[in-house]
Amino acid sequence: MSKQFRFFEQVNRSFDSAAALTKHDPRMLSQIRECNAVYHFAFPVKRDDGAIEVIHGWRAEHSHHKLPTKGGIRYSSKVSEDEVKALAALMTYKCALVDAPFGGAKGGVRIARSDYSAGELERITRRYTYELKKKNFIGPGVDVPAPDFGTTAREMAWIADTYHSLSAGELNALACVTGKPVAQGGIRGREQATGRGVYYGIREACNDEELMKKLGFDQGVAGKRVVVQGLGNVGHYVSKFMQEAGAVLVGLAEYEGAIANPDGLDLEAVVSHRKDTGSILDFPGAQNIKISAEALKLDCDILVPAALENQITRDNAPAIQAKIIAEAANGPTSVGADEILTEKEILILPDTYLNAGGVTVSYFEWVKNLSHVRFGRMQKRFEEGAFRRIVGAMESYTGRTLPDAERADLTRGASEEDLVNSGLEETMALAYATIRETQRRYDEDVSLRSAAFVTAIDKIALCYEDLGIFP
Ligand code: NAD
Repeated sequence: MSKQFRFFEQVNRSFDSAAALTKHDPRMLSQIRECNAVYHFAFPVKRDDGAIEVIHGWRAEHSHHKLPTKGGIRYSSKVSEDEVKALAALMTYKCALVDAPFGGAKGGVRIARSDYSAGELERITRRYTYELKKKNFIGPGVDVPAPDFGTTAREMAWIADTYHSLSAGELNALACVTGKPVAQGGIRGREQATGRGVYYGIREACNDEELMKKLGFDQGVAGKRVVVQGLGNVGHYVSKFMQEAGAVLVGLAEYEGAIANPDGLDLEAVVSHRKDTGSILDFPGAQNIKISAEALKLDCDILVPAALENQITRDNAPAIQAKIIAEAANGPTSVGADEILTEKEILILPDTYLNAGGVTVSYFEWVKNLSHVRFGRMQKRFEEGAFRRIVGAMESYTGRTLPDAERADLTRGASEEDLVNSGLEETMALAYATIRETQRRYDEDVSLRSAAFVTAIDKIALCYEDLGIFP
């Protein structure tokens, strides 16, 4: 039985097996895998009842090969230095894969979000930001946080506001953080972006004739039976987009338990049931699964872990029935589990690729903030005029007139959200094709995870080669 590795070590083991496939200078490879900087700090926060509590926070900047660094901030009682380093490393490879021009970073605050009032969370977030600013661990050209587990657009708005108040006159201050509410400089489509990107990644794999043949599946997402673990930002939107594409949600798991129905669960009905009753359990027509993690073993085609790392381990991997594991969360599969799943010929769509939609759209938001103009603002009306002239010309040549609704559809100019979604779709499709190309360069026995790492390493290595640091 293989040993249980710590999270950063697990990421580095994946890195090492991919790096061994490349011909890059070993000194350069060891520079790439190291975490460049970690800042750990503790600060006091006054609770609503007057008590003082010491809060621990971290920010890890894994790679400075490109600046700024980029990565989310996590609020969870399990946050540790090892965890933020591992997550920062994954960000480095993810950004390289999707050509987002950043080094990887990640932050964390060790608190269980649900134990704190909104006022307490605001005080913690603002103080966390102040600490980052004090040590130059935040800034539009330095390090740019985003939402992650336990944080939302609201926390990002507090971060932007605190940073702004500490940087009077800094024109690009709003670009210090992404995932903000739209009214505070955010971008339309960011909230859905990670889940939408996961969906696009699954769709690319399901449309891959060669892979689907190997698994004995028909092509396409429609009809595939899916189990999703975690109904937060990522899990909710993956479920929504999968269901809209015709997949059947046969199991949904949250921390309080899971529910299953082989005939399918209606996502929005489950969400409103949970809102009304405070629990996912006892949903009409569904079977209750009291131990939530048991849902990972349900009979399904695609399993989507979208909660936290280390959910699929060597203990439960032998019982997994899914043929595809879509890693929406970061690091949900342990090294030991990975070996077992590979032996079982289960296809793993790796986190480094699959959940990169979040950072992709964060990149668009950062660019929007730096350019101080909404995407689509300059060209929307111009496009509509051009489309109207084309449609008008077609009508006059054919002597036929289009119905109003069709005409309106054909002459619509792209909005910010259209452009964001289209940029995201293009990015996920291109990255998938590149990873598959890398895989074919070696042979089909190289996993998609290794192929994704090799693709990322090659891109990062180019930066160092251009600098001439490792001649
Ligand atoms: P979130 O806080 O919005 O949601 C997480 C959900 O998982 C919550 O509903 C929580 O109750 C549930 N959960 C926690 N423990 C669970 C358990 N043991 N079993 C079942 N459910 C459980 O977080 P999120 O932003 O959706 O992030 C989820 C994962 O996706 C994390 O690994 C994160 O690093 C990764 N990710 C997030 C983003 C993003 O843009 N938010 C981007 C890339 C990757």
